[in-house]
Amino acid sequence: MEVMREVWEMAAKGAVAVLVCREQIPCNPCEEACRRGAIVVGEDICTPPRYDPSRCDGCGRCVAICPGMAVVLLDRSPGGGRARVTLPYEMRDAVEAGGEAWALDAEGVPLGKGRIVRTAKASRKDAAMLVTLEVPEEWSLKVKGLRVRVMSLEAPQEAEMPSRDEGRTVCRCEEISCAEAQAYAAMGFRSLGALRRYSRIGLGYCQGRFCQTMLAGELQEATSRTPEEVGTFRVRPPVRPVKLSRLGGEDG
Ligand code: SF4
Ligand code: SF4
Repeated sequence: MEVMREVWEMAAKGAVAVLVCREQIPCNPCEEACRRGAIVVGEDICTPPRYDPSRCDGCGRCVAICPGMAVVLLDRSPGGGRARVTLPYEMRDAVEAGGEAWALDAEGVPLGKGRIVRTAKASRKDAAMLVTLEVPEEWSLKVKGLRVRVMSLEAPQEAEMPSRDEGRTVCRCEEISCAEAQAYAAMGFRSLGALRRYSRIGLGYCQGRFCQTMLAGELQEATSRTPEEVGTFRVRPPVRPVKLSRLGGEDG
C-alpha cells in the first residue's frame, strides 16, 4: 500500500509505472527491461517482482514487454480531474491519437471511454504499441486494458455500412461474410494484418490463399486506402497444412 501511495504522489509530476504482479510464475522480462533497476525479481524467477517507484523515469519499457499486462504508466500531471494511463496494445493499425477507446478494468469490464492522446513504441524491438489514454482521475488506477470498440455495447451491425451484397462470403474457411469484413473496416481495422489478428480471417485451412485478394479489395474500398497501405497477410511457413508425421520423417 505504501508503494501505491508513493506512485500516486509521483504521478502528479509525470508518468510512473504502476506494477501489480502477484502471481508466483516464472517470469522476469520486466526486470531485464528496466535499465534503472526499479524492478527486481532476483535469483528465484518465481518471486513476484519488487518495485521501487523512486527509480522509475516512466520510460514504459516494462509496460510494453510484460506478457501478463501487469504494468501500466500513470500520469496525473494534466490535472483538472484528468489522468493519463499508458497501456500496451498489439493492434497498432486500430488506434490513432485523437480517437477514442474504451478503458477496461482488470476483469475486462468497460469503465468508460477515454481519449487517445498518444501512440508510440517504447523501443524499436517491441511488438506492442504504447497507447496513452486520458480518463477521469477517479478511475485511473482501475484501468488495466483498452479496446477500440466493445462488441456488446457497439455491435458491428450498428456501424454505418455501404450497401453491398452482404451475403457474399469472403473467407470460406472462417465463414466471414462481405458484410462482416465491412463492419470490421468501420470499426477501424485498416490493414489486412490487423484484421487477421482480430477476426481470424485468413487463418483457416487455405491460409489466406483464396480470400486475400478479395478481402484486400473490400478493405481498400471501405477505407479509401491504397493496396500498399492495406498490405498483405504475413506469410509464415508452413504455407499449407503439414502432417506432424511428415515433419518427423515418418511419411514420405
Ligand atoms: S517505466 Fe521504465 S524506469 Fe519505470 S519501472 Fe518500467 S522500465 Fe523501469
Ligand atoms: S513481466 Fe509482468 S508478469 Fe512477468 S514478472 Fe514482470 S510484471 Fe510480472
